[in-house]
Order: sequence, then structure tokens, then C-alpha cells
Amino acid sequence: MNDISQNFTAVQKQIRKACHVSGRNEDSVYLVAVTKMQNEQALMEALRYGHRLFGENRVQEAESHWSILKQKHPDIRLHLIGPLQTNKVKEAVALFDCIETVDREKIALALCEEMKKQGRNVPVLIQVNTGEEEQKAGVLPADLKQLLDYCRHCGLDVQGLMCVPPVNEPAALHFAFLKKLARRHGLDILSMGMSADFDKAIKLGASYIRVGSALFGERTV
Ligand SMILES: *Cc1c(COP(=O)(O)O)cnc(C)c1O
Repeated sequence: MNDISQNFTAVQKQIRKACHVSGRNEDSVYLVAVTKMQNEQALMEALRYGHRLFGENRVQEAESHWSILKQKHPDIRLHLIGPLQTNKVKEAVALFDCIETVDREKIALALCEEMKKQGRNVPVLIQVNTGEEEQKAGVLPADLKQLLDYCRHCGLDVQGLMCVPPVNEPAALHFAFLKKLARRHGLDILSMGMSADFDKAIKLGASYIRVGSALFGERTV
């Protein structure tokens, strides 16, 4: 086995363990393998291992990584986990199977219109800036309800919430907060947890964990 398949096996073992201790069904946790800044060989090894669910944080890089591979393997599923600009909405709707980073009305509206145009209904998550950090993407918790109402009104299929906790605070507080927000608004899906803390996120109810370096090693720029 190569490094990457060993890493997948190890991460899956940790997922099973976290599910076991928290009494969760393993089928309720999806591993989004984050392939940003990885080379083609890494992608191929993940595919060879049998993995099919991937996350990218930039539209352009995602296209260069996956456009062709997705035609070869129609069961590949791609999540956008980074910020989306309106000038990339067309490409994003065509390529991604879930957009996790809706955080303002302008992008919600652009997505609605583009999905109608392409006849493609892509589920979305709303990214919440749970730490209320100035430069961070995500809607502020106080503004979530208004954005959610807006998205639902224009017909977006909002399935849940996503967050990236502040680096210098205990992630578990933010995971628990995100779960509470989701419950309050009748949402089931939670995207939270990365390489350093996905086991905590699972224990607090994560549906999608987004794991990069634990699977592919440190990213080289
Ligand atoms: C890069 C990235 C990840 C993966 O981070 P790792 O620490 O490498 O697991 C998860 N979520 C988002 C939004 C990212 O940009």
C-alpha cells in the first residue's frame, strides 16, 4: 500500500472509532477528501483507493483537477469548500455537486439564476462565521436567519451549515454552536472538522468532515 491509501485507511479507522464512542452510525459521516494544492498523482491514488467524494476551495483549480476525471468517473462528487465569486458561478454550478460556502444574498441569487439556466439543482450549505472574525468568510450568526429565508425564497436547496472555527479557539465550542444553529433552523447537515479535529466534529454531529493533510500529507505550494 502506498502512503495515501494507508492514510485513508487510518483516517477511516479514526472515523469509525469516533462514531463508535458517540453512538453514531458510520454511514452518517461522509469524508470529503480535500485535494487543493495536490498533484495529479495524489488524486489518482485516492481514486485507485476507491474514494469518490472530494473538496476543493478554488473553482479554477477544481476544474483543472477534476473536469476530465469526472467524465471518466461519473460517480465522483465534488464539494466547493472555499469562497465563491459571482464571476465563477457559472463554472461552479456546472462542476460541483454541493456548494458549501453560500454566505451572502448576492451569491445566493446568482446561484439560483445560474442553476435555472443550466437546469441543474445543486444543493448548498450556508457558511457561518461562528467566531465572528473580521476577515473570515461566512454569514454572521445574527444574520443567518435572514440569509436562510432569502435562499429558501429564491428556491435554493439549503441542506445545512458549514463552519471553519478560529485557529486559536477550541474548535468544539464552534462545532456545538453550529449544531445548535442548524437545529434552530430545521437543518440536518453539518460540514465541520478538518485534519486536526474531525473526531471532535463527529462526536458533535458532523455529517461532512473536510480532511486534506491527514490524507495527502502537508500541502506544497
Ligand atoms: C484546506 C481546507 C480543509 C482541509 O484542511 P486540512 O487541515 O488539510 O485537513 C478543510 N476545510 C477548508 C474550508 C479548507 O480550506
